[in-house]
Amino acid sequence: MKKKKRMFIAGNWKMNPQSLEAAKEVFRQIKKSAAKLKNTDVVICPPTLYLSELKKIAKDDFALGVQNIHWELSGSHTGEISARMAADVGAHYSIIGHSERRAMGESDEEVSKKIAAAFAEGLVGIVCVGERERDTEGQYLEFLKNQIEHSLAGVSKSQVKRLILAYEPVWAIGRKDNAALGGKELYETVLYIRKVLLGIYGKDIAFGIPVLYGGSATFQNVGDILSEGEVEGLLVGRQSLEPEGFAQLLRIANSL
Ligand code: PEP
Repeated sequence: MKKKKRMFIAGNWKMNPQSLEAAKEVFRQIKKSAAKLKNTDVVICPPTLYLSELKKIAKDDFALGVQNIHWELSGSHTGEISARMAADVGAHYSIIGHSERRAMGESDEEVSKKIAAAFAEGLVGIVCVGERERDTEGQYLEFLKNQIEHSLAGVSKSQVKRLILAYEPVWAIGRKDNAALGGKELYETVLYIRKVLLGIYGKDIAFGIPVLYGGSATFQNVGDILSEGEVEGLLVGRQSLEPEGFAQLLRIANSL
């Protein structure tokens, strides 16, 4: 019988919800659902402003992350936070290179510097990659390869244990029709991503890097994504703000 994979599900709350009280309420419910899972790790990345308060509820039983960090430790960077600040208030993870930040101009080089900063402070980096659109000639695969290679340019073999790669096809994120990438197509892309990682780190290390899928994952499509897609988990936006739907998604992920 195939050995059960341990699943990793990260929730990216983006700029939601609109009050600390609402954030606490959603978080309490998610924490309760996550406590029942034997085979799945859950991380929530709330707006940084809420992190300290949610940490009081999370205690040491539930991991939190930030959605972005700056690569410098301190200085004149108005509006930014450093990896050290994030770790100091209790974050264990940082999303890095999310497509919404890349759309604001974040480059692969900056992503690479942020990864180094995260690792230096002991954070695990959830590094996002993904094509903006798919063409029929497969050029998006070349785009992906370049993005992965450049974003991970500074990550040495010994640092890889702190790396999680989130494959998020940009066109599948935040879809109103919940149209995620189908499990079979995901499988093919994940194989390709693993080939790229293999080219950088060699087989033994490449196959140990968790690869997540992100893009309109919901409780309705999680079964297909996780059973067919050969990923180690998900990065979930919208559904992670809906405690009931998210609880269902977690239960399904945990049962596969
Ligand atoms: C995301 O933005 O990382 C994401 C996966 O969002 P959604 O699940 O809402 O598509």
